[in-house]
Amino acid sequence: MQQTKPPYRLFLVIAIGVVALGYVIHTYKNVAAQNQAIEESNRLVEEFNECQEAADWKCSERAVRALLEKTPDDKNLQLHLAGTLFEQERYEDCIAYIGTLSYRTEELEFLEKKSKALLNEMSELGIARSMHFRVEFEGRPNRNDVLEALSVLEVAYDSLCRLFEFYPENKMHVVLFQSSAYQGMGPRPEWVGAIFDGKLRIPVGMMQYREIYRPVIFHELTHAFVRAMTRAKVPLWLNEGIAQLVDGSRSEKGRPSGSVPSLDALVAPFVGESRTSEAIKLYWYSLEMVKRMFHVEGSLASRVQFLKFKSCIQDFYRKDVDESLKEHYGVTSRELWEQVSR
Ligand SMILES: [Zn+2]
Repeated sequence: MQQTKPPYRLFLVIAIGVVALGYVIHTYKNVAAQNQAIEESNRLVEEFNECQEAADWKCSERAVRALLEKTPDDKNLQLHLAGTLFEQERYEDCIAYIGTLSYRTEELEFLEKKSKALLNEMSELGIARSMHFRVEFEGRPNRNDVLEALSVLEVAYDSLCRLFEFYPENKMHVVLFQSSAYQGMGPRPEWVGAIFDGKLRIPVGMMQYREIYRPVIFHELTHAFVRAMTRAKVPLWLNEGIAQLVDGSRSEKGRPSGSVPSLDALVAPFVGESRTSEAIKLYWYSLEMVKRMFHVEGSLASRVQFLKFKSCIQDFYRKDVDESLKEHYGVTSRELWEQVSR
């Protein structure tokens, strides 16, 4: 005998089906929302790291604040926020923010102490906050030398802004030091101890020698601008070539004697080269390669060329170096190297 199923069973099956489907959709939405939240956090972390690497502190601050909105009690993020305020020379804000936290770590204490010390130093030297530079001191530099250095830096800064039509969002970090600790550090005869390693390190004693420090400041500041203009890595020959083109100090020197340095040697960091004659060569070939790109022989390059240079290095972020060179200048680095090696 055929048994007829009571219709409620069917209803139940349908009802279970609907509930199950609803549950699946609900869960799926939850999972999707969670995934989206995780993706968003990952993106912010990635952005934060990238900005920090590029010393773009404003961008780091935005990213870390967005992350803190999601997880306000994350101590690691709190430390990073204090750090980004400190790096922006916002020492008062840094101290105030640390004051809102209910705990202390060694790192937070360091930032708090250093912020107070820097504020003290500035007020003791009677130096106002600079427009475009975040200044730190090493040793006890002479006040007049500091003021002179800062005024030359500001003039050079304005020129470079106009040259590249680029106005850095972040203050540049300058360390003015009194000691001769950086002097004689490698084969850089005309550097007089100034370097750019993410911070501009300038011996203020150099301010006594007007004819030397102007090109040195222009040179190092160009490196700082290159760093600010692109997050990508720039080959050393390009970086040193443009800095020399801007500082105008080496344009008339003749080809150094001896063998031609390899292209690899021109891409690697020059400070690794301990032989002065080799270092001089690397600088000479770097400048020559950039001069070929700019199509200038000793005379000043046009502004259009500097804008093209900016676009080219900014494209390194998305493209291979040679791909970008080819697109903007129609040559690869090897072709340039071959041209100047002849
Ligand atoms: Zn340099």
